[in-house]
Parts: sequence; C-alpha cells; structure tokens
Amino acid sequence: MSEQFTPVSTLGEFGVIDRLAERLSDIPRSDGLIEGIGDDAAVYRAGNDMLHVMTTDALIEGVHFDRTFIPMQFLGYKAISVNVSDVAAMNAKPLYATVSLGIPRNMSVEMIDALYDGMSSACKQYGMELVGGDTTTAHALYLSITVVGEVFEHHVTFRRGANVGDYICLSGDVGGSFAGLKILLDQRQALQDLGDAYEPDLDAHQYVIGRQLRPTARLDVVDMLSIIGVKPTSMIDVSDGVASEIHHICKRSEVGATIRVPEIPFHAETQAVADQNMDEIDAYALFGGEDYELLFTVDPSDLDKMRELEGVAVIGTIEDQAKGVRALTPETGLMPLSPAGYQHFDPEEGPTGPGIGPDLGPEEINFSSDDI
Ligand code: ADP
Ligand code: MG
Repeated sequence: MSEQFTPVSTLGEFGVIDRLAERLSDIPRSDGLIEGIGDDAAVYRAGNDMLHVMTTDALIEGVHFDRTFIPMQFLGYKAISVNVSDVAAMNAKPLYATVSLGIPRNMSVEMIDALYDGMSSACKQYGMELVGGDTTTAHALYLSITVVGEVFEHHVTFRRGANVGDYICLSGDVGGSFAGLKILLDQRQALQDLGDAYEPDLDAHQYVIGRQLRPTARLDVVDMLSIIGVKPTSMIDVSDGVASEIHHICKRSEVGATIRVPEIPFHAETQAVADQNMDEIDAYALFGGEDYELLFTVDPSDLDKMRELEGVAVIGTIEDQAKGVRALTPETGLMPLSPAGYQHFDPEEGPTGPGIGPDLGPEEINFSSDDI
C-alpha cells in the first residue's frame, strides 16, 4: 500500500496556515486569549485594561535576503523592524524581543557584531529591549525574532473590525521595496556577468534600495493616530502588498472593498524603476511587498482628520462583502482585484496582477517577508 503525500505548494502559504490552525483547534482555549492565529500578532490579557501582543518573523538567507547585498547592520535592523511592524499593526507598542540565530561557518565574528549593532539601533529607535535568544550553527544565516508588545484594550485594532462605509487609508508610499529588490537583482546579475569588472551602479536608486534593505516600522503612525484621537476600525501592515493585505482585512471583517488605484502613493524613484523595466507602476503599488507601511480603515466620521494628516492617503472604501475586492482605475473602471502578493510555496507566484506586472521568475530568490 503506497502512502499519498501532498506537496505543500498545492495549498500555498495561507492554505498551510489555515490547515495547521485547524489541527491546533482542539487545544482548549484559555480565558486570557483574545486573538490567536489569524492576525498580525496574537493578543492576550496582561492586566485589567492592558493587553499584550506577541509575534514572530524569520529572515533566512537565500529566501529573504542575499548576503552579497545586505550589510549585516541593515539585516539586524530589518529583522527587528519586520516584527515591530506587526506590533504596530495591532496599534500596540513593542516591549521585549528574543532572537534565535543560526550562524553558518563562513561568517566572521565581525559580521555578527554588525548584525547586533543593527538590532541594537532598531531596539533603541523603537524604545524596546532585546532580552534573550538562542544561538546555533546553521547551513545558512537564519534570524528568527519574537516580539512582545502592549496596548490598552480600548486601543487594540484587529484585521476583523472594518465596517461597510469605512474609508481605507495607507501610510507612506508603496512599491519602493519591490523596486529596490529589482535593482539589487539586476546588480547581482551584473556582478555574475562581469565578475571583477563589475562596478556597482546604485546611486540613482538609494531611496528604493533603502526601502528594501532597511525598512522602518511605522510606530510613528500609531503615535500620530493616538494624538489626533483616531482609532482605526481595522489595521494590517503591508508585508505582502496592498492587494494581498486588503484581502486579509476583507476576509476577516466579512466585507468587500474598492481600492482607487490612482490614490495609492508611490515615490518618484519607484516610478523610475518601473519605467526602466517597462512595468506598470500600478502593479508595483498593488502587489509589491515589504514596504511595512500600515493599511487601515477608519469610520467615516474620522475622514476629515485623515485628509488633514500628512503622510497618510485615503485610497478606497469598504463595501458589502457581495461586491468583493475591486480596483478602480481610469483605464479599466472597476475590476476584481486578486491578492497576488507574495505567497510562499508557489514557485510561479510573484507580484503580478491585472495588466502587465513585474515578474520574478521561479529561479529568482523570493525576498518576501513571509515564512517558508
Ligand atoms: P504576517 O505577514 O503579518 O507576519 P502571516 O501571514 O505570517 O502574518 O501569519 C498570519 C497568521 O498566521 C499570524 O497570526 C501568524 O501568527 C499565524 N502563523 C503563521 N505561521 C504559523 C505557524 N507555522 N504556526 C502557527 N501560526 C502561524
Ligand atoms: Mg503583518
């Protein structure tokens, strides 16, 4: 009798997560647990009106980064940032981090020093402490970080709180990290082709490369919202692309959405990279991942406050679930919008969507932030 094995690629990353969540569903649930698997961070009660949030994200060499192109200090900074971004997505503040580190034999002590300098500078910036971890040898550099944060119960935001009529808001600009990745992959190719004759050509792309190599978690947006007295009805961070993230909000909130694509902000350097590659900027804006901006919804009564807020754009509205998730562009009118962000386990999956999209072939390293 032969046993049947199912390749994980048949499920995709989110299918795998749904499946393993189902297998864990008979563990008795404690009273203190407020949110388990399914949001940017788990949430549990820490005191009368105080909640804690907890999240884990790993960065693995060859999957999420290429050591040729990321300085160790940036890698350390990024590893903390991607975790703090999930804490920010709950409207929370980070408190403590632990780090699990896998070190390949070809790494020097100086490289580890630089990695930790980067983590230290991120911790200082985000007002948190690194309080422990684990060290092991590994075949590739591996960094897995867990962060615990805190939030008052009346401030916590989930993916599941969006209501029909809410406005969809986005901090900063998007697509830049993907544009930076494009440049780095081109440079890697040039290095392979030219060998010693290779000369880096990165000056015109510093912004987008910075977005890819040293992203910042938007705790400042969390502060800003609190200062102006706006509590988002739902929130998620943009790790896989705006299209993918709005699908998560809609699925958890049981609503639909319309994204007005021309309202999505992107940087001039991002546009330049799209032009250079003859790609549609819309595809970068919708499907490019790893920008670590915050995508959130607000009640219509908060719209005026949001319009006055610098660095936040109103990019759409929440609709009835029956309408699905749609994109509105002047060229196409209203079109169904697929998630099509990065998803692990599907080698064909890259940031593509309706229209021409940038294409990361299956042979390319997928520098997405998700687990593999
Ligand atoms: P994010 O992109 O915000 O980090 P993910 O898509 O990685 O979120 O994860 C979605 C949800 O699934 C989160 O609640 C996360 O904790 C949970 N999750 C992901 N991988 C696993 C796993 N291997 N075991 C248990 N829960 C997981
Ligand atoms: Mg997230």
